[in-house]
Order: sequence, then structure tokens, then C-alpha cells
Amino acid sequence: MSILVIGTVAYDAVSTPEHNQRQSLGGSATFFSLAASYFAPVSVVAVVGEDFRGEDLAMLQGHQIDTRGLVRARGKTFRWVAEYGADFNEAQTLDTQLNVLADFNPILAPEARTPSFLFLANIDPDLQQSVIGQLQAKPRLVAGDTMNFWIQGKSESLSKVIGSVGTLLINEGELRMLTREPNLVKGARQVLQQGPRMLVVKRGEYGAICFTREDVFATPAYPLETVVDPTGAGDTFAGGFMGYLAATEDLGIENVRRAMIVGSVMASFAVESFGPERLQGLTPQAIQQRYHEFWRLTYFDGTGQRPLPIRGG
Ligand code: AMP
Repeated sequence: MSILVIGTVAYDAVSTPEHNQRQSLGGSATFFSLAASYFAPVSVVAVVGEDFRGEDLAMLQGHQIDTRGLVRARGKTFRWVAEYGADFNEAQTLDTQLNVLADFNPILAPEARTPSFLFLANIDPDLQQSVIGQLQAKPRLVAGDTMNFWIQGKSESLSKVIGSVGTLLINEGELRMLTREPNLVKGARQVLQQGPRMLVVKRGEYGAICFTREDVFATPAYPLETVVDPTGAGDTFAGGFMGYLAATEDLGIENVRRAMIVGSVMASFAVESFGPERLQGLTPQAIQQRYHEFWRLTYFDGTGQRPLPIRGG
């Protein structure tokens, strides 16, 4: 099944303790689409400016990403300037230049109005809502993401979006900001009362946790010795997660658990290079192998029923 994604396509300028202001292609829709494209057909709805490079468009198309919904508008492409300190789990946004995003009004083509899987990647919640409003049939899964910029700047619009999605994927810090609840489990329960049936909390190097009303599942992040640039890890996680669900067409809880691992696999590749470089040249073997390594990393017992040698037990 195919996936429709609306999100940002950006030029990022990111500094880390080792690298000063590296410029690269970025944006929530970019990382998401690349990761998902390894599993399912993806169509992207986004806006870029006149400065958008032909080679970047060709790269996306080279991954069989349908870019007919990628509008080129007068002005400059959305730009994000950020830095990471020693803590790679949280980016400090130094500047957000909306540029062409400020006047973007996404219009879905008639054939794009009945997607099976819809991902509302991090972008202005009014645009996320506008896409929901244009749907002509209920998708099997609508998932969404957001970040501090919109939680602080457009909280009312964002509440409406959260009330309309089946699944919310969000960073741990942003969940705390959204719910004003320091305890993760209580915060998760709050979100699950607002509409979504599933909440995936992304926790950077600590992995991710999926909450539903019936189940909680946690995955670690892949322990990497060298993390070059964590930008896009969350969007890439979402791409692997949704891509796998769309490819398998199974939204059962066991399959969602596997999707959590696939998301973690794809995110582990994203952080190994600047921008989406590493995500561009993955082979099926490399993805499969890391999936296996995750299984080794997390497997500990066939049943979880093994009797423990508890004294007096
Ligand atoms: P992540 O590291 O997965 O949270 O996402 C990083 C990407 O989000 C970068 O490539 C940015 O271009 C993009 N981004 C940054 N700020 C915003 C924003 N306010 N709205 C949408 N996308 C953004």
C-alpha cells in the first residue's frame, strides 16, 4: 500500500561539536520519504523555493518517490539552523526561516485524496489539517508528528490535529511540553485520551516506546560508537515504521512491534552521516542485517516465563 506524506523539504545548517555549520538537504518529509521508500511507494506533498537544486529533486525521484506534489514556489526554500551540544538528544534551534512555507496552501491532486496511509510529518498544523480536510476516504492509518516550534506557536491548531490522527509520533521532550506532565506514562495516557489510539514516543539514543490502551512496547536505539548528526532521526524512524506497516498491511500489535524495530533500524542509519546521505545508498542486505542485529540485541528469552532463582520463591 502506498503512503502520502505532507511535511517540510528544507535546507538545514547544522553544527555539532565536531562540525561547524554543515549545509544539507533536510526537512521532515525528506527523511521520512527516503526511509519509507525502501518499503512502500511514497508520494510527497511539500513546497520548495526557486533555490531548490535539481540534483536534490533527482535524488528523491531516484528513490521512486512520487514528487508530483512537490510544489516549486517563488522565494527561498524553508531553512532550519540548529546546533547540537554534547547532548545529541536535543537540537537547539537557532533560526527557523519559513520562506515559501509561510504561504503554502497544499492542494491534493484528485488521485492523492484517497491514500491508504497518510503521514502528517512535522509542519504547520494548519497545513496538516488542510490535508485531512481534503481526504475523500478514510485512510487505514493516519499518523502525525510535530515539534516545539508548533507546540508553542500554534497550540490550538495542533490540538485539533492530535484529535484527528490515529497515531501520534513525538519526541519525549516535546511530549512533556505538549502535556505539561513530567511523567512519561501519565503524559502518554493524556495523549491517548485526546484521540490517538497509539502514541510513539521517540527518545533519541534511548530508543522509543509505543503506548496503546492495551499495550506498551519499548525498543532501544542501536548502540552506535559514532553518531555524526542526529538530524532527521525522528522522521526517519517514522518512515521506517510507516513504510513497514504499509508494506505488510497489518496493523496488529505484534506487527506494530516489528515496525518499531524497523523504525529504529532506519533511524540508526540516518545518524551515521550528515543530513540524509547515509539513507540514500542503503542496500536491502544492510537493512536486513541491522534488523537481525536488533533482534540479537533485544532477544532474551523465548517466553518470558522462565522461573527465576528467587530466594524463598
Ligand atoms: P528531526 O531531527 O527528526 O526532529 O527533524 C529534523 C528536520 O526537521 C530538519 O531536517 C528540519 O529541516 C525540519 N524542521 C525543523 N524545524 C521544523 C519546523 N518548525 N517545522 C517542520 N520541520 C522542521
